[in-house]
Amino acid sequence: MARNTGAACRVCRREGVKLFLKGTRCYSEKCALTRRGYPPGQHGQQRAKLSAYAIQLREKQKLKSMYGILERQFRGYFVKAERLPGITGSNLLQLLERRLDNLVYRLGFATSRDEARQLVLHGHILVDNRKIDIPSYLVSTGQVISVREKSREIPSVKRATAMAGSQEPLPWLERNLDKMEGKLLNIPSRDEIPVAIKEQLIVELYSK
Ligand code: SF4
Repeated sequence: MARNTGAACRVCRREGVKLFLKGTRCYSEKCALTRRGYPPGQHGQQRAKLSAYAIQLREKQKLKSMYGILERQFRGYFVKAERLPGITGSNLLQLLERRLDNLVYRLGFATSRDEARQLVLHGHILVDNRKIDIPSYLVSTGQVISVREKSREIPSVKRATAMAGSQEPLPWLERNLDKMEGKLLNIPSRDEIPVAIKEQLIVELYSK
């Protein structure tokens, strides 16, 4: 159950994009990337020309950070993605999107994947009315994800659902915020996954 516990905002500044790792703060003017849009460290403001390898590596690090996954588990997803029919890069993103912590976040029950992961780990999330406390659990089409009844008053959950109320869920998800439940309707196509990543670069990196 290892995870990256480093300073989240430094990761965004390193990658130069908002990875939305800190919930509500990411949408406010306190966002570190908005305030200091250059890489951290003493030489952060100097421009460095990246090699092709470095560009591929950064893309992989970005995706790993986004979903809060460490190298070994990420590699496992890649191996799985390669074995599935279709385009490896799209398969990889589809697998990551099916993770339970990601879906709790996408459904709006948490303001970040990290917060969602905590909810899952602490047993606040049900899948088809059964408690699942494994953040990497892969949800299948048609399964219903819900917040356990006695967990619905948790302040972070209430805050997240209040925020989510103003946004439509993704087209491949069904959501009922009053009941605090949602469903994975279908596996999204690459175009339906709102992740600004060039996954082909990651495939090239691992294919070396
Ligand atoms: Fe990234 Fe959020 Fe920190 Fe902004 S506030 S730098 S988006 S983690």
